[in-house]
Amino acid sequence: MVRRNEIRPGEVAVTPPTATDAGLVFIGRIRTPWTDRMACPRQGRLDGPVCRIEVFEPWAGGLDGIGLYDKVEVLYWLDQSRRDILLQSPRSDGTVRGVFSLRSPVRPNPIGTSLAALVGIEGATLLVRGLDCLDGTPLIDLKPDRCAFTPLAPPQPGDHETG
Ligand code: SAM
Repeated sequence: MVRRNEIRPGEVAVTPPTATDAGLVFIGRIRTPWTDRMACPRQGRLDGPVCRIEVFEPWAGGLDGIGLYDKVEVLYWLDQSRRDILLQSPRSDGTVRGVFSLRSPVRPNPIGTSLAALVGIEGATLLVRGLDCLDGTPLIDLKPDRCAFTPLAPPQPGDHETG
């Protein structure tokens, strides 16, 4: 169930500590058809509408080479989210789960991620399908699909041992 900013029965909110500035820089803005959370998909679909990722200067040059990839991982800041609800009730039915066991937009650091299909490039704007965020959502980062990268070296003995 999509949330505006309410607290639901059974949910537990906390008082977050004073923010430590991680020095995030919004590198662009995402344009989508959705202006209301109630209309926004819960997760993007690769057959969803084309959305536009506008990359701001001075970062546009960083798009060089991105057209080599079919898919791009998009990281964005869910700027209209509450950040204080520790136990959440996704179905608003009184049963709750911890925030870190959910992909809820309501989280201490409201970062959203989607693997989007890259369908076009117009200057400093990427055209993609597969997003689920509101129009105007700030862009944090873009990365090519991790599946396109192979490890540089074969696995070494001990790679997976834990201390
Ligand atoms: N795909 C991302 C993920 O898994 O990290 C985000 C998933 S989250 C469930 C998507 C929902 O976040 C949307 O359905 C909408 O209700 C909400 N949302 C989208 N853009 C938002 C924004 N800018 N601020 C707050 N909430 C937003």
